[in-house]
Amino acid sequence: MTEFALDLNDDQKQVRDWLHGFARDVIRPAAAEWDEREETPWPVIQEAAKAGIYSLDFYAQQFFDPTGLGIPMALEELFWGDAGIALSIVGTGLAAVGVLANGTEEQIGTWIPQMYGDADDVKVAAFCSSEPDAGSDVGAMRTRAVYDEARDEWVLNGTKTWATNGGIANVHVVVAVVDPGLGTKGHASFIVPPDTPGLSQGQKFKKHGIRASHTAEVVLKDVRVPGSCLLGGKERLDGRLARARESARTGDERVKNAAMATFEASRPAVGAMAVGTARAAYDYALAYARERRQFGRPIIDNQGVAFQLADMRTRIDAARLLVWRASWMAVSGKPFTAAEGSMSKLFASETAREVTAQAVQILGGNGFTREYPVERMHRDAAIYTIFEGTSEIQRLVIARTLSGLPIR
Ligand SMILES: Cc1cc2nc3c(=O)[nH]c(=O)nc-3n(C[C@H](O)[C@H](O)[C@H](O)COP(=O)(O)OP(=O)(O)OC[C@H]3O[C@@H](n4cnc5c(N)ncnc54)[C@H](O)[C@@H]3O)c2cc1C
Repeated sequence: MTEFALDLNDDQKQVRDWLHGFARDVIRPAAAEWDEREETPWPVIQEAAKAGIYSLDFYAQQFFDPTGLGIPMALEELFWGDAGIALSIVGTGLAAVGVLANGTEEQIGTWIPQMYGDADDVKVAAFCSSEPDAGSDVGAMRTRAVYDEARDEWVLNGTKTWATNGGIANVHVVVAVVDPGLGTKGHASFIVPPDTPGLSQGQKFKKHGIRASHTAEVVLKDVRVPGSCLLGGKERLDGRLARARESARTGDERVKNAAMATFEASRPAVGAMAVGTARAAYDYALAYARERRQFGRPIIDNQGVAFQLADMRTRIDAARLLVWRASWMAVSGKPFTAAEGSMSKLFASETAREVTAQAVQILGGNGFTREYPVERMHRDAAIYTIFEGTSEIQRLVIARTLSGLPIR
């Protein structure tokens, strides 16, 4: 088992400093413009691709860091630069993880390169699970995938919503119901290849924050994909469905627990994004409070301001520790007996909301304007308590895990 250490090794420090430089020199200066434009920052994604940050190789390297800290450290730095642009850069990763987690080697080799494109022709990918009537309640999903045996094709129908990169993606990963009798255990994931007829973008959302990241509905109307686009393949799906039917009959919970373990391992990543945004707002507010003078002295000389900064920093460090613990647990195969992954996401996302609000307060009138970045950071931070499971759902998962009882 990997020992837990808070000291980053030399390789990690080098990667962190390199990413911080990219966030400071390329992402941060572009942040206000793309926030105002509310458009995907293609030129910045391209810069990231040229630098080697927008690629599967980069994420794979961080993912396989044996300490588990590679991914949270990378995400914190990129989101420190700007949340909207960083999500545009890492959003493809959500879809790529869907393929890595469930796909065969052939599917991984075929589709992941098409998700990223290359530095001269960058592409993005989308992961489409949420629906208008199935947000927190994933079991209410209605998008159907029906197998057409004669043609060895799957036919997908339904409407997905809130899809990051939805409609502009080269490759869409779509979760659909294959057996409505089995609830979430009757779901499967499909690749929808580039330019497949029947897939279209619905409404593109105008958002409160992370406005550089494209979020839209995806409409699937008689979308036909080859049998080879079912992630994991038909044989594995049939086996899984058979086990799920058996577990439904006998009340065995193991299938459900496997899905829960996956979420526990992925949620700290969102926590790391939140830590990045919170730290960005804190850094800015600290520098401002040292500079800004009122009543003949820097405002940080007032305990009322200094104590806020003390609390902000304390919460950020505590959030990072929870994120790193959960990331280390995931890589070490430790069981999440107290939903430590959900804990880290809950605490870090609530911290980002609170810390960015405090930063606005410390900047006074300037904090309330778009001339200063903390206004944007505050809007951006609101997403963390909503996506990848709301704070209420994290609390529900933690409480359910602690109690061992179903909590409704
Ligand atoms: C910018 C953005 C990007 C996104 N990107 C993606 C993406 O790429 N792919 C994707 O599939 N999805 C994505 N999502 C969807 C996101 O995961 C959902 O919005 C989220 O899961 C919440 O679902 P909902 O919006 O339907 O809210 P609802 O589920 O309707 O929740 C509304 C409120 O009720 C509360 N609530 C619901 N159930 C309970 C309960 N049992 N106990 C207590 N409170 C409860 C919630 O906490 C929330 O406060 C994205 C969303 C946004 C806003």
